[in-house]
Amino acid sequence: MHGYIARWLRIMGYDTLYLRNMDDDEAIRIASEGRILITSDAELARYAETRGVKVFVIKGLSEKEALETLVKKFNLAFREDFSRCTVCNGELESIGLEEAGSILGFTPKGVNAFWKCKSCGKVYWRGSHWKNISRQILRLVDNEPAGKTV
Ligand SMILES: [Zn+2]
Repeated sequence: MHGYIARWLRIMGYDTLYLRNMDDDEAIRIASEGRILITSDAELARYAETRGVKVFVIKGLSEKEALETLVKKFNLAFREDFSRCTVCNGELESIGLEEAGSILGFTPKGVNAFWKCKSCGKVYWRGSHWKNISRQILRLVDNEPAGKTV
């Protein structure tokens, strides 16, 4: 569940840390550096709020509902240019066709823009999977506020 949210936030371009087995105080310290703390732990959420941290509790929501609510509540945007590795949260850099081809061992058809993770080396391009995901995200982001229907 948390992994799913983290992956989508990274696809959207957000610097997202996935904290596991971490001390509450340490999690709050990290979150207080301009991050939103996403948790299913109500006790941690209350404690973090008293420390002035932005908190989102995902308890009782499906993965899709959680993401939808998160996008609306914090007015998240979708940066369509790849910027974060969905695996390790590393920064992505643009690479050429030749470099991508030599890493992948093949060249995806009809694709001429590639990105590589500076940390783990994973290569990204806009294939059909990316298009499906981005369409889903754009649908969420572009949701008209209630009462603004034409
Ligand atoms: Zn990476």
